[in-house]
Amino acid sequence: MVVAGGGLAGISAALALADAGLRVTLLEARGRLGGATYSFQRDGLWLDNGQHVFLRCCTAYRAFIERIGASDLVTLQRRLDIPVIHPERGLSRLARSDLPAPLHLSRSLASYRHLGRLDKWRVVRSAAALARLDLGDRSLDEQTFGAWLRNHGVSRRALESFWDLIVLPTLNLPSDEASLWLSAMVFQVGLLTDGPAADLGYATVPLGKAHGTRAEAALAASGVDVRMHSAISGVERADAEGVQVRVGAEQIQAAALILAVPHEQAARLVPAEVHVNAESFTGLGHSPIVNLHVIYDRPVMAHAFAAGVGTPVQWVFDRSAAAGLTIGQCLAVSLSGAMAYAERPTEELRAMFVPELARLFPAATEARVTAFYVTREHRATFRPSPGTLQLRPRATTADPRIALAGAWTDTGWPATMEGAVRSGRQAARNILLALGRDRGLPTAA
Ligand SMILES: Cc1cc2nc3c(=O)[nH]c(=O)nc-3n(C[C@H](O)[C@H](O)[C@H](O)COP(=O)(O)OP(=O)(O)OC[C@H]3O[C@@H](n4cnc5c(N)ncnc54)[C@H](O)[C@@H]3O)c2cc1C
Repeated sequence: MVVAGGGLAGISAALALADAGLRVTLLEARGRLGGATYSFQRDGLWLDNGQHVFLRCCTAYRAFIERIGASDLVTLQRRLDIPVIHPERGLSRLARSDLPAPLHLSRSLASYRHLGRLDKWRVVRSAAALARLDLGDRSLDEQTFGAWLRNHGVSRRALESFWDLIVLPTLNLPSDEASLWLSAMVFQVGLLTDGPAADLGYATVPLGKAHGTRAEAALAASGVDVRMHSAISGVERADAEGVQVRVGAEQIQAAALILAVPHEQAARLVPAEVHVNAESFTGLGHSPIVNLHVIYDRPVMAHAFAAGVGTPVQWVFDRSAAAGLTIGQCLAVSLSGAMAYAERPTEELRAMFVPELARLFPAATEARVTAFYVTREHRATFRPSPGTLQLRPRATTADPRIALAGAWTDTGWPATMEGAVRSGRQAARNILLALGRDRGLPTAA
């Protein structure tokens, strides 16, 4: 059994197959596991390529973390509580109470100072309409969430101070460009049906450790043969024997293959005979994420994380402990849907964002920025604009021995860690069923 791609989708697929008793080889192009979630060292500090967040409703991802033995390396809020800061209006919190959804946010919305009375009423009204949308109706993927919100009387201020606070980091596009279907899915699953669903979590150590190192150990313990620096360059169907996978000059014979690589690579590698519309994969496009890693000589932010409104600063996380910083503070500013920033030089971003951070955190005015690094992920996720629903393929292909996995496949989720894990488990499930094994089948969540 071969799994190509050592991101979260591939690791999940490999573990699920191994757990069902199969011999698995995992081929990864790079010299590390974790795919789009990784860390690197700069001037003695450990930084992530981008801040990664999950929610309590990410059940498959949380099960994955448990499976790879990394539960001690992540934190999950006991109860949703987001400090939201405006440079002039100051701090307000979006926090949940014990009331059932969607009432769980009502108390905090009532005191939320970044919206006026009328806007709050419209948020409530639009949220109720959003909860009623039927996700079985694929025509919802024909318009943007922003257009839908405007039709429901939502103002620009409410869009920026409430809706985009959630849409940008979860979909990696602003409401004005994001698919209504995917946005509705995020709000229904995350905010409108289950109170605790949106409690927020993240790794307390570098991602390379939480995902890479721990996954490597779990795979080894399960007997998975992990081969790094092994980019597959071709896939052929070999009727009786299964599938032939080419890695450099080597041909690897496998009973089945899970192709868990990014969509543009999958489009190139998937054999024409398996009848998937590989051209449509490339139509998924990309949306960039930029992270600014700002090192101060002293603490400037009193929160573990915060969101910004009325400022280009979107979300900020205190990564001092994870980075290994003992004096000062390391802030990671995460900029999603970062088309406007991805091409800008570091000095320009520094000149723009250091003063913005000082507007949000007055202590930063006195502090000295000792280092400023930028990570640009131009192809962070596919671009979840209207029309993407029909471009995302299912895990199955016309050949039951070849399955697709990846956050970009038709998981029903945006391009997230949760989507990646779900896709890997689904692909493994399909392969196991194709091989006539109906014991030890992985569930999606
Ligand atoms: C900066 C950033 C921030 C993000 N923030 C969040 C967040 O807050 N929350 C969240 O849930 N998600 C977030 N995401 C998205 C999330 O990281 C991805 O959706 C998820 O990790 C994708 O996993 P994957 O396994 O589908 O793909 P990938 O991680 O892309 O893995 C694919 C793997 O295939 C390998 N590969 C490619 N070609 C070949 C080949 N020919 N042969 C063998 N191997 C190959 C690649 O090297 C890679 O390791 C973020 C992403 C980025 C980049």
